[in-house]
Amino acid sequence: MKVKIGSSVLELVQGDITQQDTEAIVNAANRTLLGGGGVDGAIHRAAGPELLAECRNLGGCDTGDAVVTRGYKLKAKYVIHTVGPVYQGPNPNTERLLESAYRRSLEVALTKGVYSVAFPAISTGAYGYPLGEAASVALRTAIVFLQAHPEIKLVRFVLFNQRVLEAFEESLGRLNPA
Ligand code: ADP
Repeated sequence: MKVKIGSSVLELVQGDITQQDTEAIVNAANRTLLGGGGVDGAIHRAAGPELLAECRNLGGCDTGDAVVTRGYKLKAKYVIHTVGPVYQGPNPNTERLLESAYRRSLEVALTKGVYSVAFPAISTGAYGYPLGEAASVALRTAIVFLQAHPEIKLVRFVLFNQRVLEAFEESLGRLNPA
């Protein structure tokens, strides 16, 4: 599924983020940036040990913030590491932090002149954010950002399985961006 936001494209695909050929991929990391399971583990395995070495020098990342490293063995030139919130029930602050993780990732992409970015569904694995709510925050934030920043030409959400893809498709259908 693909929609146009101004002159940019927002796309939903099912797949593995480590295989993406976008200029940057986003990692759903933890605050230490020292590696974890899920998408974080997969990105570190695919990028090789130099990624962890660079992450060690960054001194961590706050929840809702993002930092950038090189992509090493990945096709993507950059990895943008962001930290989503752990879900603890419906709470405006948690939602704000998830929104911030997406927005800060895109702001960091702009600082590197990146024009295509692939995201996983941040916080929807180990961090337990309900899929439908996470999808709606993710898509709303990306759409608002693309409307303000046409320099970014492509935002691709790479959803790991059919269930996550369907949640994002339903949510995008409801948002119905023109
Ligand atoms: P978090 O701690 O932010 O919840 P997880 O890595 O546990 O991060 O899960 C986030 C999402 O990433 C989940 O929807 C999970 O299915 C998905 N995921 C896991 N591996 C990959 C991968 N290789 N590519 C894309 N998405 C992935």
